[in-house]
Amino acid sequence: MDVGLIGLGRMGRGMAASLVRAGHAVRVWNRSPGAAEGLAGVTPVASAAEAFAGDAAITMLADDAALRAVIVEGGLLDGPNPPGLHLSMSTISVALARELAAIHARAGVPYIGAPVFGRPDVAEKGALNILAAGARQAVARAQPLLDAMGGKTWDFGPEPHRANAVKLAGNFMLIAAIEAMGEAAALAEGHGVSGADLLELLTSTLFASPVYKNYGALIAAQSYEPPGFNLKLGAKDIGLALAAAGAAGVPMPFADVLRDTLSEAVRQGDADKDLAALAEVARRRAETNRAPSG
Ligand code: NAP
Repeated sequence: MDVGLIGLGRMGRGMAASLVRAGHAVRVWNRSPGAAEGLAGVTPVASAAEAFAGDAAITMLADDAALRAVIVEGGLLDGPNPPGLHLSMSTISVALARELAAIHARAGVPYIGAPVFGRPDVAEKGALNILAAGARQAVARAQPLLDAMGGKTWDFGPEPHRANAVKLAGNFMLIAAIEAMGEAAALAEGHGVSGADLLELLTSTLFASPVYKNYGALIAAQSYEPPGFNLKLGAKDIGLALAAAGAAGVPMPFADVLRDTLSEAVRQGDADKDLAALAEVARRRAETNRAPSG
């Protein structure tokens, strides 16, 4: 297929590589120039409008503000050659997903919510778990692209925003897992046991699942740079989960705690480290608590 991909960040680069490997023709655009350097087989274009064309356009941008700036304020839906469909793969708010679905419907461009689970290394392998929701025919047409970027597509029906609600629920659980590992490691260390040994035990037995194993290894090694998934993007996602919860009248007290802990990590200078650095907040709190006062 003839595809335009907007956003060559950590995830977008790997997704572009997977699309090229599967034989698709991929035009790419990124706000900061030079992002396509070293990316074999893609065709860089000079404007977002040139990428937002062809059989399908894919967006993989940081957040609501980025998507709003590029698609809405950039007037891309008013262009003369709109794409056959828009696969919107960023982690964005449920509210923006609803708004984008409505303005795409007015412009006659099928809009598919398709956020993903998987870090940049998984994107590079074309093995993402993709949560897709949108008009049935459009999702079917997009399937070759979804298959190129993902190991599996999980279908959440015809309303695009539902895929975003699922993604936010999943990231809430992921961040809760990191917080739990951080507090558990601090508890073990408080009694002379290495946090790394505790995490090795738990992520090999009771919690032997990808999130615990992958983030547990980063926490055990205190390896937070370079980031795979920025802590500030995790903070964004908890805010979006709380907003989505508020809109549906769902109390999420754990999410309130996670928002506060993420804010503390950002204030302490960890915004651009990997999300796994959230675990350091528990360690620092314990150290402060144990420090002799006065
Ligand atoms: P990233 O490396 O920070 O890349 C962000 C991208 O958004 C860059 O292309 C950046 O362009 C662009 N951007 C930011 N603000 C913009 C604006 N105002 N106008 C135009 N472009 C703008 O982020 P990422 O890790 O690839 O994540 C992308 C999305 O995937 C996010 O929604 C994230 O939550 C989600 N996600 C990430 C992961 C992960 O593990 N990393 C996993 C699943 C989902 P510049 O190069 O010009 O800054």
